[in-house]
Amino acid sequence: MSRLFLRFTSIVTKGATSSTKVVLARRGAAVRPIHTCSGLLSLTRYEEATDWQKKLTPEQYVVTREKGTEVPFTGIYVHHSEAGMYHCVCCDSPLFSSETKYDSGTGWPSFYQAHGTWERDESHASIIRRPDNSLGNTGTEIICKHCDAHLGHVFEDGPDPTGERFCINSVALNFKPRAK
Ligand SMILES: [Zn+2]
Repeated sequence: MSRLFLRFTSIVTKGATSSTKVVLARRGAAVRPIHTCSGLLSLTRYEEATDWQKKLTPEQYVVTREKGTEVPFTGIYVHHSEAGMYHCVCCDSPLFSSETKYDSGTGWPSFYQAHGTWERDESHASIIRRPDNSLGNTGTEIICKHCDAHLGHVFEDGPDPTGERFCINSVALNFKPRAK
C-alpha cells in the first residue's frame, strides 16, 4: 500500500502546476479506500474506521470489544438510581432507560427491558440478541445494534412485566441524567 502511495505522490509531483492544496486533497482521496477495506474485514457496522483501543479505556475495551465481564459489585451503575438514560459507551446510542432498571442483587446493573421496545418488539431498540455458547450452556448475548459492542447477557429470571433480566456491564454504559 505504501508503494502505491509513493507512486501516486511522484505522479502528482511531476505535475509542476499542481498547488499544495490539490496535492493534499488527492492524498486524502488515496487514503480513503484503506479505511473502507479494514472496516469490512472487522465486520463492524459502525460507519467510521474506529480505533477502539484509542477511544476507550482498557477496561471498556476488554468488556465491549473482547466480550469481557466486569467483576460483580464493582461497576459504578450497580446501585445507581438517578432518572435518565444509559447510552452505549462506544457509540452513544440510547440503550436502557432508568425506568426499567431494578436491583437484581447480582452485582451488575439490571434492566427488565431495552429502550425502544414496544410490546416485545425490539426492532426499534438499540440492542440485538445473539446466541452465546461460550459459557458452556446456551446463553443470549446482548450487543449494541449500531457498533457491535458487547454489553452483557439476558436471562429469563427477571421481574414483571417482561420476566427478563438484562444483565449489563457498567463499563459498557454511559449514563445521562434526564433534563429537569
Ligand atoms: Zn454502540
